[in-house]
Amino acid sequence: MTDNRITLAGAGLVGSLLAVFLAKRGYQVGIFERRPDMRRTDISAGRSINLALANRGIRALEAVGLMEEVNKLLLPMRGRMVHDLQGNSNFQAYGQKPHEVIYSVSRAELNKLMLNAAEQSGRVKIHFEHQVTGLDLDSNRLSVSGPDGQSREHPFNRIIGTDGAGSAVREALMAKAGRYNKEEPLGHCYKELCIPPGPNGSFQIAKDALHIWPRGGFMLIALPNLDGSFTVTLFMPNQGDISFGSIDTADKLDSFFSTYFADLKALIPNLQQEYFDNPTSRLATVRCAPWHYQDKALLLGDAAHAVVPFHGQGMNCGFEDALDFSKVLDEEQDWARIFEKTENLRFANGNAIADMAIENYLEMRDSVLQSDYLLKKQIAFKLEQWFPERFTPRYAMVMFHHLPYAEAQRLGEIHKKILAQLAEGVSSAEQLDKTQAESVLASAGL
Ligand SMILES: Cc1cc2nc3c(=O)[nH]c(=O)nc-3n(C[C@H](O)[C@H](O)[C@H](O)COP(=O)(O)OP(=O)(O)OC[C@H]3O[C@@H](n4cnc5c(N)ncnc54)[C@H](O)[C@@H]3O)c2cc1C
Repeated sequence: MTDNRITLAGAGLVGSLLAVFLAKRGYQVGIFERRPDMRRTDISAGRSINLALANRGIRALEAVGLMEEVNKLLLPMRGRMVHDLQGNSNFQAYGQKPHEVIYSVSRAELNKLMLNAAEQSGRVKIHFEHQVTGLDLDSNRLSVSGPDGQSREHPFNRIIGTDGAGSAVREALMAKAGRYNKEEPLGHCYKELCIPPGPNGSFQIAKDALHIWPRGGFMLIALPNLDGSFTVTLFMPNQGDISFGSIDTADKLDSFFSTYFADLKALIPNLQQEYFDNPTSRLATVRCAPWHYQDKALLLGDAAHAVVPFHGQGMNCGFEDALDFSKVLDEEQDWARIFEKTENLRFANGNAIADMAIENYLEMRDSVLQSDYLLKKQIAFKLEQWFPERFTPRYAMVMFHHLPYAEAQRLGEIHKKILAQLAEGVSSAEQLDKTQAESVLASAGL
């Protein structure tokens, strides 16, 4: 077996991009993917599921020359359209610069594009309907169950687990050398619904925003699709008064939507069918260590650090994993060192975005309607205008910049204190005094 062969488990978003990075560096890549080939089988059950792509993900796609193609799949979202209980809507821009937008993209179309790019390299062979079921890290053998249901053993010289939140590679790595392997359930689940296109493929609500219906303990969001539809996601506790557990009949669903999402109800014609037919899926954060074993195995993407989706960064972070890994490949020869260095670069960042994503759930489902939150957001924008070299709002650091997530988190904690101090005694950012603001920044060390 030559040393330029690499095995991946999982050809999802991160695995397919990673394969492109590896192929561009001359590696021969074999991927075992559990699902059938999504380019030939409709595995989305007719639903169009989308994601927010932001700068970190874009930078990785640019690095492999895919952005020109990906651009054709994108719909820009300039901010949040917040819908209150009375049916009013209020647009909150994500940033104050023209490029500070995020993009809605179809998960399946993006994945297909990257699968094509990987295969077109001539160096990547994807074995669909092949599920990794076990991994022996002493003898370098993989157990893989094929389409005929038979389990076979495959030798590997190194494997990267890009097999998502329920990673089989992670389980094997943890069994061999794990320090910890924690799945922290959020206690809330999600369900996808759909606003279909209007007449002639028109959008029934503003297409350039991520829509949110924040309701305190639960919320709905909607992201646009190119065909004029919106993918709607309902996030709600699993149990309790208002929960997936309690809303279990057509009457309860009808009255729940009439009470909390009256404006939206008319836009989801198949509400009842979709609510009861579509799966209710769990949300959890995965934290584990280590992410690698000797020069044999490494975890990347959700396999290493699944995060809850409220910062729209899980895929973006996984793409940044792939980009950073490729840079390490350019710097190092020794595989144990390559894996170790990649883990060292990414580990704290995976944890930081996991924490910030949980925090953002509260912000999205609750704070976005509160005057204190809106005032602090205004103040943050004002500080950025006055002191662009010294202050970038945390949301922008995560979504539009490339500084490490852990650094964005650290600065964000300092920002919280600054914003609390400056918000005292003012009702608008226009009442701030620039000299006073400067001294508050300086005393916080910024
Ligand atoms: C509701 C929701 C909304 C989200 N929104 C966003 C967003 O807006 N922006 C964002 O950046 N992120 C978002 N995310 C997160 C994003 O979906 C994940 O971070 C991303 O899919 C991770 O990619 P991955 O390749 O690591 O894992 P996955 O996409 O899960 O891919 C794993 C692949 O491995 C395969 N596989 C699994 N087990 C095996 C096995 N044993 N053998 C072989 N193959 C296997 C799977 O079939 C799959 O193809 C969202 C997540 C959810 C749940």
